[in-house]
Amino acid sequence: MLTVNAYAAPSATEPLVPTTFERRDVGPRDVLIDIKYCGICHSDIHTVRGEWGGIEYPLAPGHEIAGIVTEVGSEVTRHAVGDRVGVGCMVNSCRECVNCLKGEEQYCVQGNIGTYNATDRDGTTTQGGYTSAVVVDEDFVLRIPEGVDLAAAAPLLCAGITTYSPLRHWGVGEGKKVAVVGLGGLGHMGVKLAHAMGAEVTVLSQSLKKQEDGLRLGADHYYATSDPETFKELAGRFDLVLNTVSAKIDVNAYLKLLAVGGALVNVGAPPEPLEVNVFTLLNNRSSFAGSMIGGIAETQEMLDFCAERGIGAEVEVIPASKINEAYERVMNSDVRYRFVIDNSTLAG
Ligand code: NAP
Ligand code: ZN
Ligand code: ZN
Repeated sequence: MLTVNAYAAPSATEPLVPTTFERRDVGPRDVLIDIKYCGICHSDIHTVRGEWGGIEYPLAPGHEIAGIVTEVGSEVTRHAVGDRVGVGCMVNSCRECVNCLKGEEQYCVQGNIGTYNATDRDGTTTQGGYTSAVVVDEDFVLRIPEGVDLAAAAPLLCAGITTYSPLRHWGVGEGKKVAVVGLGGLGHMGVKLAHAMGAEVTVLSQSLKKQEDGLRLGADHYYATSDPETFKELAGRFDLVLNTVSAKIDVNAYLKLLAVGGALVNVGAPPEPLEVNVFTLLNNRSSFAGSMIGGIAETQEMLDFCAERGIGAEVEVIPASKINEAYERVMNSDVRYRFVIDNSTLAG
């Protein structure tokens, strides 16, 4: 067993505090990763604050992990000591069900094993990337190509794949009009990726205060959703509206922005239900859909796509002592555009 330094939530209502956890011994198919950086995803906050329920405390969140391999098991073939690697939201799945066999392990019929707050195959609760090291089955470890800085690569493991996968699935490319709702961690990756795929990209943000950034990140247009004129002007415009908002919004207003046959895809995961008026769907043959992260093969494809184009996340690297402050800033939509923990500061 290896003892690792960590930052963990003792309960739903207390700040995260320094602590330690034990990692399992490196098994024949395992990789030990020295974590260099871990992104702070809004899902970490939903989870540790108990908004999605079912938490076992103490819990170290973090599923945007980038680091270096320091040990491999005897049967490992995909990774070697010294490799730059990443781990996203899953660390295992059944590997036998129809979805696992299709490479969509995130939709494993038995449920994928989450990087944190899940029961691992040894029966323990998984602990995430706000830790100094992690042991993961080699099949759930991704290669981070040279050319993407490790800190900028970390958020690709969740924010990157969560936006890449639906953009691909709904056929985004040249000639498509895409709106990204919310310019936070996921939203800014959605803008970069949809732009790189050749789409015409519009940001729908609560205000215009991040407009300059949005246009620099690759958006063609930028509108404030606090202005009712926005919804009149953009009615019927988009092939795809990607909703990355962490809170409940009036989805019917956004469904009206779709062209006939368009799709509103939710990646944002507020705890409250979203109410859909079916007439907004049937009047326009629209779809109201959701999407969860992406499979392992698609995550590798996304990392390679990003590396070829020099795409990384825009990050603000923070020491572990600033995690609780960063949480408050994320809650206030004051993030440009992902906080990333420097895991060397976890000690003590
Ligand atoms: P984030 O960085 O906090 O970004 C969310 C953005 O939504 C904010 O920056 C803000 O953008 C907008 N927003 C926040 N509150 C709002 C409100 N009350 N009304 C309207 N807009 C609001 O969060 P994130 O890390 O990108 O995560 C976003 C959501 O996706 C979370 O719910 C997270 O759990 C979920 N998620 C889902 C998956 C998946 O697999 N589907 C994966 C990762 C995360 P503006 O300031 O531009 O308005
Ligand atoms: Zn996430
Ligand atoms: Zn499965």
